[in-house]
Amino acid sequence: MSILVVGSVAFDSVETPFGKAEDILGGSATYFSTAASYFSDVNLVAVVGEDFPEEHIFFLKSKGVNLNGLQRVSGRTFRWKGRYDFNLNEAHTLATHLNVFEKFTPQIPDEYKNLPYIFLANIDPDLQWNVLEQVKKPKLVACDTMNFWITGKRESLIKLLSRVNLFVINEGEARQLAMEPNLVRAARKIMSYGPKIIIIKRGEYGALMFNGSSIFSAPAYPLESIFDPTGAGDTFAGGLIGYLANTDYLEEDNIRQAIVFGSVMASFNVEDFSLNRMKTLSLNEINERYKEFKQLTHFEDI
Ligand code: AMP
Repeated sequence: MSILVVGSVAFDSVETPFGKAEDILGGSATYFSTAASYFSDVNLVAVVGEDFPEEHIFFLKSKGVNLNGLQRVSGRTFRWKGRYDFNLNEAHTLATHLNVFEKFTPQIPDEYKNLPYIFLANIDPDLQWNVLEQVKKPKLVACDTMNFWITGKRESLIKLLSRVNLFVINEGEARQLAMEPNLVRAARKIMSYGPKIIIIKRGEYGALMFNGSSIFSAPAYPLESIFDPTGAGDTFAGGLIGYLANTDYLEEDNIRQAIVFGSVMASFNVEDFSLNRMKTLSLNEINERYKEFKQLTHFEDI
């Protein structure tokens, strides 16, 4: 099954304790699409400016991503600048320049309107809503967001969540959205806004899924060297939704496997800046790391 994704395609400038990079390829939809492309067909809707180079278009095309919904308009591409300290779980936003996103209205091509799996990657919740107004009867609507929108567009976000089935969100942002420090209670409160399934991303501590009364906990892969955590959340979502769309099965056991594939994709992505690790990553490496995850969490009955 195929996926429709809307989100940012960006230039990022990132500082970590291990290095610095300026105007590198980033964006929530870019990371998501690249990771999901290992599992399913991906159709992207976003906007870039005149300054966006062909080289990046070529990269996304090389991953098989359908770019018929990528608009190029006059102006500058979205830019994000962030810094990580030694606690790599937390990104500090230094600057957000919406640029071409300020006047953007998503135009969903007719060929995308019946796609069964929708991922509303991190972007203005009003734009995410606009996408849902244009599509027909999706099988799964999944969504991500960040503190920038929780602070700036809280009401739009809460309204959007009434139409979302699966919500992925960072630990700190879940607390902020629910205004509740306890994660179990925060998840329950967010569920009351609409989504039946909440997946809370906890950086190096893994991910927690709340699905009805069941809770599933997946670890993060214990990496020795993490270079740049940018995009970990989006590549996690790419592996997760990519696997769900590929298997087209939305029961708990399959969602648990999908979460592990999400964790596998995120673990590779943080090994290098931007999408550099995705340039060489093979399916074989993904399957091998999935097996290592199984080994990591295996223990015997008493
Ligand atoms: P994450 O997976 O959470 O690390 O997301 C990182 C990506 O989110 C970066 O590549 C940024 O370009 C993008 N990003 C940062 N802020 C925003 C925003 N306010 N709206 C949309 N995308 C953003």
